Amino acid sequence: MFDAVNLDIQSPAGKATFDLAVNKAIAELRILTTRYTLCLTPHILEQLESGLARHKKKRYLCRLENAKRGHSQVTDADKERFPTWIQVFKDCFDYEAVSERFGMAITGQLALTVCPYCALEEIQTYSAIAVRPDLDHFYPKTRFPFLAISLFNLIPAGSICNQKHKRNSSMLGHMNPYIDSLEGASVFRVGFVPDGNEAQTLTFDVVPQNDPFKDKNIELFKIKGLYNGNENLRAWYLATYKLREFLKGQGVELSTVNFNSPLHAAVLDLGRPITKVSAQKFKVEAINDLFEQALQVVSQPEN
Ligand SMILES: [Zn+2]
Repeated sequence: MFDAVNLDIQSPAGKATFDLAVNKAIAELRILTTRYTLCLTPHILEQLESGLARHKKKRYLCRLENAKRGHSQVTDADKERFPTWIQVFKDCFDYEAVSERFGMAITGQLALTVCPYCALEEIQTYSAIAVRPDLDHFYPKTRFPFLAISLFNLIPAGSICNQKHKRNSSMLGHMNPYIDSLEGASVFRVGFVPDGNEAQTLTFDVVPQNDPFKDKNIELFKIKGLYNGNENLRAWYLATYKLREFLKGQGVELSTVNFNSPLHAAVLDLGRPITKVSAQKFKVEAINDLFEQALQVVSQPEN
């Protein structure tokens, strides 16, 4: 695979390399058009075989390369090349109607109160006042219209993750929170200088999971930036650190502090599952680190 966007079309050597790349693409597209009945590919093939200027052909190569990477773009002119039934196919999957009729029931039934993408943003369904979180299409309905009303594709999500970070990403190769989670392995590392001015040096880091699906989510949803910048979480960490220093000063053995007791329920809520407590994973790891404990997050019970 070539890197079409970086192909030089100015120098004589660059032009020769570019023409070779075009010929290679033509050969591959010819094989495809012989094997399958395609709507758009014959048009692209025709353009590449024509006397079109190199800079215009380069645009077609870039589109082919993007399509291969899962970022295909279909223009209105392209849509004209498809049969009419394909153009109206998406109307069979009327998300607006489903959302209006069942949206509140879907988010209410799932009963999540934190965003499954970041586990930090609070989301909640308030049935009594008809307020519900965004229902994110894991695979966007603009790209996968046939999944627009699939329940498995609908995920209640926070507005930062849904509207700012995820947007129209294809999500191919990403972790689906209905299938997998970051509950198991260690995710966070906290650093600071214990000089009485910890707020200045406090940094939350995210440990790579060595799992391409999980790491892609960590990157897409900017988990490090989100946790680092969250004022409430920073304040929680500093207060918990001060609690540790206080108890240590009192001669308390840190590993014996019982975070399941009502005394510490406000520090760490282990009475509810990870899907209902903002940053529970972060908090459990922080307490394990600060208090030499081996607490576990609380999984959501199976329905
Ligand atoms: Zn989120």
